[in-house]
Amino acid sequence: MRISCFRGFTIRRVALVLPAMACLLAAPAYSDDEEEFAKERERMVSEDIARSEWWGERQGVKNEAVLKAMRTVPRHLFVPEQHVDRAYGDYPLPIGYGQTISQPYIVAFMTELLKPKPEGIALEIGTGSGYQAAILAQVVKKVYTIEIVEALADSAAKRVAELGYGNIETRQGDGYYGWPEHGPFDAIIVTAAASHIPPPLIEQLKPGGRMVIPVGSPFGSQYLFLIEKAKDGSVTQRNVLPVRFVPLTRAKETEPAAAGKSEP
Ligand code: SAH
Repeated sequence: MRISCFRGFTIRRVALVLPAMACLLAAPAYSDDEEEFAKERERMVSEDIARSEWWGERQGVKNEAVLKAMRTVPRHLFVPEQHVDRAYGDYPLPIGYGQTISQPYIVAFMTELLKPKPEGIALEIGTGSGYQAAILAQVVKKVYTIEIVEALADSAAKRVAELGYGNIETRQGDGYYGWPEHGPFDAIIVTAAASHIPPPLIEQLKPGGRMVIPVGSPFGSQYLFLIEKAKDGSVTQRNVLPVRFVPLTRAKETEPAAAGKSEP
C-alpha cells in the first residue's frame, strides 16, 4: 500500500514535472532575450532619457507617448547583429555605409520637440535603420521617410514591413526636396546635418507645424534647430542643443530627383 502510494505520488510528480521541463527546453530562446531587452529598454528610458537631473544643456524627456514608444520599439532589431549587445546604450552605433543610428536620448528628444499628435502626418529625412521612423510611427498617424543611400533605403523598407509598422512609407531619394505629394506635414524631422535649412522643407510644413533639423558643418559644430510655422504662416527658428550628426548629402544634379531644381 505504502509502496503503491509512493509510486502514485512519484508518477504524478513525474507527470507534472516532465512536461514542465519539456516546455522549458522547447521554449524559444528569444523569450528570455525579449524579456532581457525589455528590461534594457526600461533602464534606457529611466536612466538615459526621462531622468531629470542632468548637467549642461541636457533635459529629461517628459512626453509620455514618446517615452512609451521608446519602451516599446525593439531597438536591437534596428542595429547590425554585431552591435546587438550595445543596442540600448546611450550612444549612436554604425549601421554601415558610413552612417549611424542616433543615440536613444537624441531620438526621444527630437521626437518630443515635434510635439507629435496622434492624428499628425510626419516626414523624416534620413531613414537610416528605420528606428526613428518606428518611434515616430507610435506617436503620429502616418510617417513618410526618405533615405538617399539605396541599400539602406531597401533594408529599412524591408525591416519596417517585417516588423509590421504599416503606417510607415519609405522612399529612396534626396530628402532635400521633401515629399510634396504627401505634404504639407505637421512634423518634419531631419536626422542628418544640413548646411542650411532646405527651403522646400519649410514650404512643406503645415501652418502650426514643427520641424527639427541639425544645422552646421559636417565635422564641425552643429546645432539642433526647432522651426515653427505659425498659423499665419510666419516662421521662427531657435537653436536648442549642440549635436553631432552625419552630413546631409546631396543627389548629383544629373540624377532625376535633383533635375530642374535650384539649390542655394
Ligand atoms: N534616422 C536614422 C539615422 C539617420 S543617420 C535612424 O533612425 O537610424 C542619417 C541618414 O541620413 C543616413 O542614413 C544618410 O544616408 C541619410 N541621408 C543623408 N543625406 C540625405 C538626403 N539628402 N536625403 C535622404 N537621406 C539622407
